[in-house]
This record gives sequence, structure tokens and C-alpha cells, in this order.
Amino acid sequence: MYNRTGFNSPSNEVFVTRSDLPNLEEYLHYLFNIWENNWLTNDGQLVQLLEKRMMDYLGLDNFLAVSNGSSALQIAFKALDIKGRVITTPFTFAATTNTLIWEGLQPVFADIDPETFNLDPGEVEENITSDTSAILAVHTFGNPCDVDKLQKIAYENDLFLIYDGAHAFKVEYKGKPLLEYGDISTLSFHATKAFHTIEGGGLVPGDKLLSDKIRLLRNHGIASEEEVILPGINAKMNEFQASMGLCNLNHIDQNLKIRKILYECYKQNLEDLDLKFQKITASSYNHAYMPLCFEDEKTRNLVFNTLNNQGYHSRKYFYPLTVDYEYFQNKTVPLFHKNDLECARQISSTILCLPLYPTLSLDEMGDIINIIQRVLN
Ligand SMILES: *Cc1c(COP(=O)(O)O)cnc(C)c1O
Repeated sequence: MYNRTGFNSPSNEVFVTRSDLPNLEEYLHYLFNIWENNWLTNDGQLVQLLEKRMMDYLGLDNFLAVSNGSSALQIAFKALDIKGRVITTPFTFAATTNTLIWEGLQPVFADIDPETFNLDPGEVEENITSDTSAILAVHTFGNPCDVDKLQKIAYENDLFLIYDGAHAFKVEYKGKPLLEYGDISTLSFHATKAFHTIEGGGLVPGDKLLSDKIRLLRNHGIASEEEVILPGINAKMNEFQASMGLCNLNHIDQNLKIRKILYECYKQNLEDLDLKFQKITASSYNHAYMPLCFEDEKTRNLVFNTLNNQGYHSRKYFYPLTVDYEYFQNKTVPLFHKNDLECARQISSTILCLPLYPTLSLDEMGDIINIIQRVLN
């Protein structure tokens, strides 16, 4: 089967996610605006509008859009002037660990909680040394970290607390936007995320001063035509990305509603099997992913392969742990500390994320559930 571009159409395959695309007419509406103003990037009207809408929608006082979620992390480290060692989780996407290394920081891996899949505060505390400057925690699959305990540890040890909130769009904890916790939270709006701007990201700084610094850092540190006051970088979101974000924001409520229905349908139909679901601590959740853990690695791999053979592509996510990446193993990058990380290993070797996105059909979900039931029985 071929689509319009002549490439082999993947339409009969189901992937773990499928990017939201608005009606083309809706996107064109914004493109007309770009053509009219002839303004493509550099803090354009549409980026400003997206930032304003985002603050309204997420209930935030400060928010800045950037080119992607990785540059959001890099700018967060720079904005807080982080040095030395940073305690973080190995159960995450490559960018969380890679950006630390890219910025010359030393990741120190602490273990995760086997129920929430997030950093275990006790483990964080045990890894603090005199050259630790920050904690970089991830709200894994959008599930809130133990933010109260982490805040207390950060305060008592004079550490910065950064949250990689790449998955945490629109999540609330105790009725408050999750992204407001910590010194800075970052977001990713990559095409595979629940809300996207094709490529894109954002920062949620704790105060206005930090917000002003980030504004400079994302645009080469340029304060005015003849003043460059910080060694910044180019991390600007452009008007085409912002247009996609504005379109997707119009449909996000509906999409999150469908995600919730699909998530709960998966759960109800799988809950009698020998499986573990992530323990969700959010007061309002986004259902961005459908992770589950099997009894052992062999069963996980069997389910993964059986699904694959029938055109359903789940993902071993996150596997391997970032601490096991080849560049650490072959010592291209030094790894000073390496705890046991027993829980992280256990979760990583038994987890699968099932396909979950608003246009996944109930038939497709039914197939996936049947295949898993058959493998486990
Ligand atoms: C997607 C993701 C990022 C990076 O985002 P990009 O926009 O792809 O650079 C960072 N952390 C986590 C946990 C992610 O899932």
C-alpha cells in the first residue's frame, strides 16, 4: 500500500504512539499569518501567543518556549549555574543523562521506587556528597515524584532541584500544577509526546528573575542590538512550531479525555493478569503512556515479540537504563558512582509501554489485550 508521498504506507502497523495532526486547514490559518507578517522566528507573535495560552491552560505564572526538550534541560542547568555532581535517575530517556554530560556535569545515579518508578528520596539522600550541586528528577510517564520529600532534601542540603517534566504536561499534584514544583521544570513538545509542537520544549522557572535570565540564554544572551550580556545559545522556538502548538492546544482537552478512557480500558482488561501497573500519585493525570511490568524479563520479551509479529509495536521503555549505555561501559565517559540500582534494573528489564494515543481504535486495543492474555495464560 502506498500513500501520497510514494513511501510504503505504515498504516497497517500500530506504533507505541502516533503524533497528533490538526486539520490542514487549521494549520494553514496560522501559516497565512506567517506569510502576511514575514516573521519566521525570533520571539514572533505566534510564539508569544503560544506562551500566553500555555500559561493560561497549565495555570503557570512563568513559562518560556524553546526549540526542544533537551535544550530546555541544558538551559535550566546554565540558568542555575549548576556545577559538579547531579543526582539523577537512570530510568529515563537518553536526554536526561546526555544533557548533563554535554554540559560537563557528572550524573550520579540513585535508585527508583519500584511502585512509582520515580527517584527514591532515601536513595537521593544517600548519594549526596560535598560536590553535589543539584537533583535532577524525572516525573516518569507523567507520574509525580515525591516532591515534598525531594524539596525538603534539596533545602536541607542546599541543592538545586530540577524536574525533567517532559512527560508531565497538564498533570496536577495535590491540586497544583506539577510543573510549579522545584527551581525549574522542563517540558518536551517532541512529536511523540502527548502535546507537541513538532520539535519543541519549554521551561517553567520558579520566579521572574530566573525567567528573564532564561529569556536571554535561549537567544544568544542578546539584551539589545549592541549588548550581549550572557554566553547564551540558540534555543528559540520558531513560528511554524508555535503554529502546530496553537492548533494542538485547541484539541488537547478532548485528546486527554480519550487517553484516559483508553488507559482505563487497558487497565480493566489486564488487571487480573500477573502484571504490575505504575502507582499513580497525581491528583489529575495526563495518561501519556501505558506502562506495565511483567513477571520477569523473559515474559516481557515474549509479549514484546508476539505483539511485534502481529504488527503491534510496543516499546521497552526505558530499557536499557542510561547508566548501562555503551559510552559508560566502554569508559568513553567516566562513571564514578554506581550503586546497586536494583529496583531500576528490575523495572527496566520487565517493563513495556503499550500503544496509547487518541486515534488508537478499540479493535486495535482489543487485539493487543487478547495477545497479552494469550501469552500469559
Ligand atoms: C522526550 C524527552 C526528553 C527530551 O526531549 P526532546 O524534545 O526530544 O529533546 C527529555 N526527557 C525525557 C524524559 C523525555 O521523554
